[in-house]
Amino acid sequence: MESQETLLHVRQITKRYRMREKAFVALKNVDFNVVDHEFLALVGPSGCGKSTLLRLITGLEKPSSGEIVYRGELVRGVNPKTTVVFQTFALFPWLTVQQNVELALEARGIPKKIRTLRSVELLDMVGLDGFETAFPRELSGGMRQKVGFARALAVEPELLCLDEPFSTLDILSAETLRSELHELWVSKRLPIRAIILVTHNIEEAAMLADRIVVMDKEPGRVIADIPIELSFPRSRKSPDFLAAVDRVYATLAGHTQQRQAAPTEPGAQGRAKMLPIISIDVLIGLMQRMGDAPEVGADIYRLATELNIPADEMLHLTEAAELLGLAEIRQGDIVLTPLGDTFAEASMLVKKEIFSRRVRRLPMFKWLWDMFSQTEHKKLEWEDIRMALEEDLPPDEAQKQLDAAVEWGRYAELLSYDDNTGVIFLEKFNAAL
Ligand code: ADP
Repeated sequence: MESQETLLHVRQITKRYRMREKAFVALKNVDFNVVDHEFLALVGPSGCGKSTLLRLITGLEKPSSGEIVYRGELVRGVNPKTTVVFQTFALFPWLTVQQNVELALEARGIPKKIRTLRSVELLDMVGLDGFETAFPRELSGGMRQKVGFARALAVEPELLCLDEPFSTLDILSAETLRSELHELWVSKRLPIRAIILVTHNIEEAAMLADRIVVMDKEPGRVIADIPIELSFPRSRKSPDFLAAVDRVYATLAGHTQQRQAAPTEPGAQGRAKMLPIISIDVLIGLMQRMGDAPEVGADIYRLATELNIPADEMLHLTEAAELLGLAEIRQGDIVLTPLGDTFAEASMLVKKEIFSRRVRRLPMFKWLWDMFSQTEHKKLEWEDIRMALEEDLPPDEAQKQLDAAVEWGRYAELLSYDDNTGVIFLEKFNAAL
């Protein structure tokens, strides 16, 4: 790869946001290159700054320090050679599929005749011929996303950035779209020189990319740069593929403890209380499965495949198991701790008891007890807690965190919540202390 021309250089990028007077480091010293003809995937947990990085690369935002260099030139302002396809692409509902694509060409000042020809060609390329006159409402999610691709390709970007483009689609449509993108890319019918794909899905990254840059959060940073030197077509079952996916898993899993133990960055203190967003039932099922069959490799990726749990969900689950002291992560393997063993075999009531004891130690719950202890009747308005969380977290994350805290607290029988009045009660105040 060294001999190929470097298209993009992300040079020692740091990005800080101010959140109500507090600085928050979203990205720290991020540094990597993308060379000509490279398909790069960026993976990492939610909040590690992947989308922020794309906004910086495309010039939609400015770094706090460091430089984005494109073909040897410093990027200042929006880089017209790059474009982003988002998770859900906003199409104009009153325009036909073709008019939606033409609009992107019109914005570039391309004459009507050429616009028509080009948009028909693009729609053909993404497999939407025959749907030119359809309206977005007549299309499936996968087809709408294809219109999004066609519109992004209309501006003939050299560097195509894809931000979780398949994550809202059902499994089969995502699979189809993935292989179509791959075909387009390898056939070289696109003028695109490189692709950066942001994804939660490690398998997806390993299926498509030449290289996977692995990130972690708090602060958002690169923790590994893993070349995927497998020829195409890639098979999900081949040992080399499994080994590559394992490597990425191994890099990602196991970082949680360090993160929770030592929030050293400014703004990280408040965020250290964040809970992994999981379903408690699935977590319990996973612990039981591991307890029942310790011989079913402790390998996280194999377990996820066997149980049909998507990669990102599996990482949240292992993070939760680790936080609760039920499991340990070692180099891509998950192993039950003695407490985890007991938990797996315990009755429902004992499970709740173990869960409840461990939950009380988590920063989120300590913080909640502090808040409750300042109230007279040990009750708080949901809205007040949400606002307090917003001191440290953006609104959508604050909301998700509070939902998770209520779910965990209810399961542990530490909290109850009245949806009609929007009031949260502390159930066992003394026990909680
Ligand atoms: P990812 O795409 O990996 O999920 P993001 O790039 O969306 O991560 O966000 C990285 C972190 O930066 C998150 O904690 C997010 O809350 C924070 N963040 C992103 N944009 C802003 C903003 N405009 N102001 C404050 N914080 C932000």
